Amino acid sequence: MGTPPITANRTTNDASSVNQKSRASQAAAVNAAAASFAALTAKLDYLSASDIELVRLAYRFADEAHLGQVRNNGEPYITHPIAVAAQCADWKLDAQALMAALLHDAMEDCGVTKIDLIERFGSPVAELVDGLTKLDKLHFNTREESQAESFRKMLLAMARDVRVILIKLADRSHNMRTLADVPREKWVRISSETLEIYAPIAHRLGLNQTYRELQDLSFRYLRPWRYATLAKAVAKARSRRRDLLQKVHKEVEAVFTSASMPVRIAGREKSLFSIYKKMDAKHLSFAQVTDIYGFRLIVPQVIDCYTALGLLHQLYKPLPGKFKDHIAIAKLNGYQSLHTTLVGPSSISVEFQIRTESMHVVAESGVAAHWLYKVDNPEDATTERLGTKWLQSLLDIQNETRDAAEFWDHVKVDLFPDAVYVFTPRSQIMALPRGATIVDFAYAIHSNIGDRTTAAKINGEAVPLRTELKNGDVIEVQTSPQATPNPGWLTFVRTGRARSKIRHHLKTQAHAESEDLGSMLLAQALRAEGIEGFSDEDPAYDSTWTKLLRFTGNKTRHELLTDIGLGKRIAHIVAKRLVQLLAEIGKRPDALLLTRERFTASDQAQLSSIVLNGSENTSVKFATCCRPIPGDAIVGYLGRGEGLVVHARECPVARKLQHKDSERFIEVEWSDDPVRAFETGIVVTAKNGKGVLAKVAEALAKAEADIVHIEMGHDAAQDATDLHFVLAVRDMAHLEVALRHLRRTPSVLSALRTTQIGQS
Ligand code: MN
Repeated sequence: MGTPPITANRTTNDASSVNQKSRASQAAAVNAAAASFAALTAKLDYLSASDIELVRLAYRFADEAHLGQVRNNGEPYITHPIAVAAQCADWKLDAQALMAALLHDAMEDCGVTKIDLIERFGSPVAELVDGLTKLDKLHFNTREESQAESFRKMLLAMARDVRVILIKLADRSHNMRTLADVPREKWVRISSETLEIYAPIAHRLGLNQTYRELQDLSFRYLRPWRYATLAKAVAKARSRRRDLLQKVHKEVEAVFTSASMPVRIAGREKSLFSIYKKMDAKHLSFAQVTDIYGFRLIVPQVIDCYTALGLLHQLYKPLPGKFKDHIAIAKLNGYQSLHTTLVGPSSISVEFQIRTESMHVVAESGVAAHWLYKVDNPEDATTERLGTKWLQSLLDIQNETRDAAEFWDHVKVDLFPDAVYVFTPRSQIMALPRGATIVDFAYAIHSNIGDRTTAAKINGEAVPLRTELKNGDVIEVQTSPQATPNPGWLTFVRTGRARSKIRHHLKTQAHAESEDLGSMLLAQALRAEGIEGFSDEDPAYDSTWTKLLRFTGNKTRHELLTDIGLGKRIAHIVAKRLVQLLAEIGKRPDALLLTRERFTASDQAQLSSIVLNGSENTSVKFATCCRPIPGDAIVGYLGRGEGLVVHARECPVARKLQHKDSERFIEVEWSDDPVRAFETGIVVTAKNGKGVLAKVAEALAKAEADIVHIEMGHDAAQDATDLHFVLAVRDMAHLEVALRHLRRTPSVLSALRTTQIGQS
């Protein structure tokens, strides 16, 4: 499709390139479009003169925009928007909706922008057109039949205004009516989408007439042969039974006349698609489908419905089990009627639907009844006549507000839970609770994806992981095999699934680390007893393990090792028992190892100490009282349930603990090659003045020491302030460099490492 510029003057626009002949055909096209618009205006008598003028302006604009475009049947393109608007006029939708219907393809096909529309027609109309354009971009993949329900909900949730859905249904209806003009290879895709998405939406919103039409048209293009055969069979049966049905009609009419109850009787036929479905589901032949014919009786009041039922049951015998009271209990979409099936003359079974006029409007038009009622009964409080709660509340809102968006919000609350619908890159649809983030999405796909998420894109753009999802978003999650969940995610995830998976992972991770530490501690304690090479995997020790676990009361080896790692159990005590058990199976301490261990125990390089390089994660913590860094002499304290806490050997806290709890202390030492920086505290005393902090920070940056935390004294009256920093440094030498840089900084009076408790 081309995108002709929009000008007021059609002839000058094309004059240079158009010859006489095509000008003639263009004139014909203009006439066709004008004729079809005239048919639309004939339906607009429910609108005010000024509204009709607005609709006319939208028509002129759309006509210009689509100029030169033709539909598959050769007619000017504008005939399509006009037909869509005409359907909306049948539903008595307001002027804004009709304008949007006329303009609905203008943004997509003609290069018209939303700004253009806002300037010309105001933002409500522009929003409607924009909403329709967005829906057009969603494509349902018919191979994913199980996803149809989610796709329908997404469509509905995306439309912030029910008028968007109604215009969309009108659009789809017209496209289906003209599907014969579309190339055959597109029939299946378009018809399946109509059958699985749009027909059910029409049904859910109570637009039953549209629902039946969309189903029958889809059936016709999906199964052309079955459709033709069935249509023929129904026509034949209809003519065969014509006399019989006329007889029923007369007899019913007579009964109502003698009871002096006004009634409108209409014959009705089951739709071809519903006959087909019934035959298919119950494996019936056409002759076996009995309830093809029926009558609809419209009576004045609700109470008359029950009176009418009584009259009918006196006339013909009812079929047991076929009576349904959908007045007392309305269907979800607001449908109300009494249904009964009777045995008529010649044993023909005939279904009757009995309802009032207002029930009839709702039964055929559902949500659109909202507008139909506005028009038909402007000052009538119809709530009483429309029995169902759902429609009652719709009408309440209608009385309170004329705002279609608010109205739709209310309908949506009833129809769907609070959910957003988003796509995976493979067009799978996922439903998540409102407020869900990328991380929730990642965990919804798989916990492996969630655990390894590192970054994400929405609609191709990189976004933070905490970003809230919107309907229709296409989400792409990036993962890395090394990545692990961030505890910070817990502050924004919305779903219970993500929350519990993150917690679970963090717990398992902590346990695995504690288990590793426990295994190291046990090996260390065993070496002190002269035993080496005791493996927790060697089956030769299985019975030893069983006995050991009986002694400790643990269920599994993992549990015991984790307990040791967490400090809940002391490795030396477990090791002592283990030595006894090993002696029972003939494994005795190695005298040489024992001597070496005892000899070196007082030495600097201890074979049995645990070497720390900073990669120990949660199982090893560095005490915040002394904040040891490589270069400091250190000790390890195995606190109860808190894993290994590393203190400086000189730390007063550690000394106190050592005094009363010495068996919980283990030997630790720094690795020669730490993998990260460690935190330590310093205090900088500086003269009060502008920019002091900036100068101090600059000095630290030059020394490549990262500031982790700052605390400042608030004593402005004094001429100097203490600044407490927590720095990340590689080791003692690095710290010295940083302190030297600070001391050379103007305004800095002193810079010292903090070693006292309580300072950080
Ligand atoms: Mn269209």
